[in-house]
Amino acid sequence: GERDVTFNVIAAPAGEGVMLSLEDISHVQAAGEMRRDFVANVSHELRTPLTALIGFIETLQGPARKDLEAQARFLGIMEREAGRMSRLIEDLLSLSRVESQERVRPTQKVDIAGLVTSASMTLGPQAGDADVTLKVIGAEEPVEVLGDGDQLLQVFTNLMENGIKYGGGLVTVEIAQQDRDPMLRGPAVRIEVSDNGEGIDPLHIPRLTERFYRIDSHRSREMGGTGLGLAIVKHIVNRHRGRFRIDSQKGQGSRFTVVLPV
Ligand code: ADP
Repeated sequence: GERDVTFNVIAAPAGEGVMLSLEDISHVQAAGEMRRDFVANVSHELRTPLTALIGFIETLQGPARKDLEAQARFLGIMEREAGRMSRLIEDLLSLSRVESQERVRPTQKVDIAGLVTSASMTLGPQAGDADVTLKVIGAEEPVEVLGDGDQLLQVFTNLMENGIKYGGGLVTVEIAQQDRDPMLRGPAVRIEVSDNGEGIDPLHIPRLTERFYRIDSHRSREMGGTGLGLAIVKHIVNRHRGRFRIDSQKGQGSRFTVVLPV
């Protein structure tokens, strides 16, 4: 097939010809391309709210200077746009932190049941506002793994928050211990976050953990999403040597499963 190749001169003894080695550098170029796409995406995501902010500042200084009602409305929008920028930066920092630690095994003793319970309490008010019932099953007994507590909390928070945002009114988190997970080849804990929302077309599923991949970007932005949540989840689960899968069918809700070695 087509390859990008560099020629390295590895030996050229005087009068004895030249020895060359061939090296496939396609992967290096692909990595460079991904980095450029990422920078372009980040710039775009930051520029959109920033443009709105600048526009409203100009309007507040000029045409709306004396209109108290308009001022209150514009300040509300500005607060939302600034919040969006701040969330994006937080998510970018989380992502880069996890990436830089991907090869470092986390070593804290963490109780998964406690983390799921505290994520559901933190999200309680948000679920209430959206008329969503959050149900946790199997969190009565502690389930200990070696992990990074902050990062695992973020995994469950992101998945439950998505269930609230894109689901259909009921989000269930079920924790179950397994004597042996066939893929991880050992004892494991399985955490399933399911919702009864509109579900996901199978076409999109393999790409959902890519950074900034959204099925409906307008909807995601409306919901305050950054498009990085599932990318962060995948990296954190990888760092814990666990596995992550998404099962969904259009019209039948979605299930996000995290399996962690115990
Ligand atoms: P976002 O910040 O956009 O929510 P995520 O990485 O968390 O970013 O999710 C990526 C996309 O996956 C979302 O924009 C949405 O289209 C889709 N998605 C995530 N969770 C669900 C869900 N529970 N039901 C349906 N679609 C979902």
